[in-house]
Amino acid sequence: MFYEPEGYDVSTWPETYWRASAPAARHYPPLETSHRTEIAIIGAGYAGLNAALELVEGYGADVTLLDAAQPGGGASGRNGGFCCLGGARLSAATIRRRFGPEATANWESFEIRAIERVRDNLERYHIDAKPCEGGELLLADTPRRWYALKNEPLPGNARLLDRLDLKNEGLQTAAYYGGRLVSCGFGLHPYAYVTGLADAAMRAGARIHGDSAVQAIQPDGDGWLLRTARGQVRAKKVLMATNGYSDETLIPWLAGRWLPAISNIMVTRPLSITELSAQGWTRTLMAYDNRLMLHYFRLLPDNRFLFGTRGGLSFHPASVAEFAQKARAEFEVIFPHFATAETEYAWNGLVCLMASLSPYIGPVPSAPGLWIAMGWHGNGVAAASEGGRRAAQAMLGAQEAPPIIARQPPPRFLLPRKLALRTLMTMATLREGPMRAL
Ligand SMILES: Cc1cc2nc3c(=O)[nH]c(=O)nc-3n(C[C@H](O)[C@H](O)[C@H](O)COP(=O)(O)OP(=O)(O)OC[C@H]3O[C@@H](n4cnc5c(N)ncnc54)[C@H](O)[C@@H]3O)c2cc1C
Repeated sequence: MFYEPEGYDVSTWPETYWRASAPAARHYPPLETSHRTEIAIIGAGYAGLNAALELVEGYGADVTLLDAAQPGGGASGRNGGFCCLGGARLSAATIRRRFGPEATANWESFEIRAIERVRDNLERYHIDAKPCEGGELLLADTPRRWYALKNEPLPGNARLLDRLDLKNEGLQTAAYYGGRLVSCGFGLHPYAYVTGLADAAMRAGARIHGDSAVQAIQPDGDGWLLRTARGQVRAKKVLMATNGYSDETLIPWLAGRWLPAISNIMVTRPLSITELSAQGWTRTLMAYDNRLMLHYFRLLPDNRFLFGTRGGLSFHPASVAEFAQKARAEFEVIFPHFATAETEYAWNGLVCLMASLSPYIGPVPSAPGLWIAMGWHGNGVAAASEGGRRAAQAMLGAQEAPPIIARQPPPRFLLPRKLALRTLMTMATLREGPMRAL
């Protein structure tokens, strides 16, 4: 494990607002038998569940899905619910330079398709994930960043909002100079989405086992043998969809090529209409800023405020408390009129960065039949959903299904990974300083 065991404890769920506000989910029993399956999937988040649905519904495959916790126990059940563009940390210019213009268009269409996929999943499987106002706002916290944002090519579906526009549109904050609003994406209830996917996959015929951490993956004839504490599965093919919760001792090739990072969320008590009006932020639009250690936030349908931050290098309780306090202080700078609304829920989870800054959806080299789909760079609600589907298609022969940039096996990080993270955070602190009100 990359961090302390606290971050991987599957014996209790984190106290998230999402679980508190959703009906009790089905409990999936542990694997207690030894059986054969065509395809085994490790990880019941958006990637693994979408892969399972694609394999069972699209190809009639026999699928067994194993999760160390219950479906959604990883990031898929505890994220900010931003169903939005993203998934890679490469700019369009870098993709063009490294992979050519076709790869840029190919990635952009993947991002849009990924949002459509989530919308389609909600409709097709009748999942009540409470979709919210469409669109996403990127905010600039310094005049220099606002100038840069204004001078970037404006995507066709975007418009710029200066401070006065933000105020007039019910998006007033104390900390930003302006923003760019894109019309795609929407907010949702992430836990309702992931548990709805699990139930749909089960109804479609996938065998799902919770509380079944895979402890070993071994070659077995022309396939693979997966061992859990109480059972085992023999599979012709295996998909590892464990993202930030991956264990590189299971697939040593992965070592040094991925980097789990901690993301934190707090949710306040419901805000009153008076508080919302005093602040001037009355919309449920998804918003984030362009700081290296970014903030992401949205007003929820019941008028609670969700505020997320990157950061933290440890799950040690002292570090978790320190970062929760820091997040709270930054929230109060950005939204001073919400300062009296206490935090009712706070939790964290793991996202996954790759040394390539792109997801990887492809085979493990020299391990026939063993596949990986991971590395959504903190934006996996949409990208992991579509990425899981593309992984399933590729495993059954459609080699061009994954986006071009996600077909390249990632290299290793140049620096030791904790040092890389620490350096990034120090640079961010030195370069950006604390959040300031205007
Ligand atoms: C706090 C937070 C906020 C976020 N906010 C957003 C957001 O607003 N929008 C957005 O797009 N993205 C967001 N993300 C990222 C997004 O949640 C993830 O990219 C996405 O959920 C990844 O899905 P996944 O299926 O690949 O992995 P996960 O959902 O992390 O699932 C991996 C699963 O693998 C299981 N597992 C691990 N090891 C084993 C093993 N050995 N055996 C069996 N099972 C195993 C885990 O139990 C887990 O259930 C956020 C993430 C966090 C942590």
